[in-house]
Amino acid sequence: MVVVMHPQATEAQKEHVRETIRALGCTPRDVQGEEVTIICLIGNTRGLQPEQLEIIPGVDRVQRIQRPFKLVSREVQPSDSIIQVDGVEIGGHEVVVFAGPCSVESKKQLMETAHAVQKAGAKILRGGAFKPRTSPYSFQGLGIEGLKIMAEVKKETGLPVITEVMSPEMVPVVAEYADILQIGARNMQNYPLLMVVGKSHRPVMLKRGLSATIEEMLLAAEYVLAGGNHQVILCERGIRTFETWTRNTLDISAVPVLKRYSHLPVFIDPSQATGHAEYVSAVSCAAVAAGADGLIIEVHPNPEKALSDGEQSIRPEVFAELMPQLRAVAQAIGRTA
Ligand code: PEP
Ligand code: MN
Repeated sequence: MVVVMHPQATEAQKEHVRETIRALGCTPRDVQGEEVTIICLIGNTRGLQPEQLEIIPGVDRVQRIQRPFKLVSREVQPSDSIIQVDGVEIGGHEVVVFAGPCSVESKKQLMETAHAVQKAGAKILRGGAFKPRTSPYSFQGLGIEGLKIMAEVKKETGLPVITEVMSPEMVPVVAEYADILQIGARNMQNYPLLMVVGKSHRPVMLKRGLSATIEEMLLAAEYVLAGGNHQVILCERGIRTFETWTRNTLDISAVPVLKRYSHLPVFIDPSQATGHAEYVSAVSCAAVAAGADGLIIEVHPNPEKALSDGEQSIRPEVFAELMPQLRAVAQAIGRTA
């Protein structure tokens, strides 16, 4: 249920609504639109009567939300959410590309990659310091050392950085170094983690779980927004199907579906989706054509030597060739890249 205030409603009237919501056993959460404020009721609204709120001065109407998600929904916020990261606008007119290695391996490797992807037009540097590997014997990432390397590379290049956080207790330290917190596919339904990043001031990229439906993904995002953090980017990275010739199956239709039901920016990860460097460029172009707000792409200066995901990492030269193609596709649909 949401309370839509009159455009002229005063702050005192809004506070009256919030107090009434609290008295009804729910938590009020404001969504500030261009003209009106919407106050959402977080909690169990079953049994509540809209009239209990409709009579309060300053209230325009009370609406029941049809879907199980509220704060992420376009019903609550019709306009696209735009997230600002160090001057980079995510979810706006420009398609934004994040690029970098799967894992941070050394300062030299990250610096070399960062300079190359920045020159080609990437706006955010990706790199894993804590890696969720399928096998416990695979490279697990450099940990804190990797975060420090990211900070050094950011200092030299000015590129903001995104990195994965795997557990609730690591959120404060990762948030100290990272500009965007990545929640990996394997953790999409790690609710304690979602609740903690919901309290963080850092934007969050939420990857779709390997076998999660779109609705489950939106409900996972709802946890983060319900915690108070409205800066969430959704990322489709392929789902598990019967197909084995690609690592996962990219659900390209998730882009228009997510954009229809949610105001949050939608990204595609063509690297985890395909698992093969050879297919990354074609799938990246398709993602932009389908209306994705951005891409997160794995780039490695020497993929054969990569400590993780070398098969799906493209070389800096390939990335440099891809960027003008993405700009052309973006232009064809009335956007920039
Ligand atoms: C990654 O980005 O390297 C990664 C592990 O992604 P995902 O969580 O989508 O598998
Ligand atoms: Mn990877």
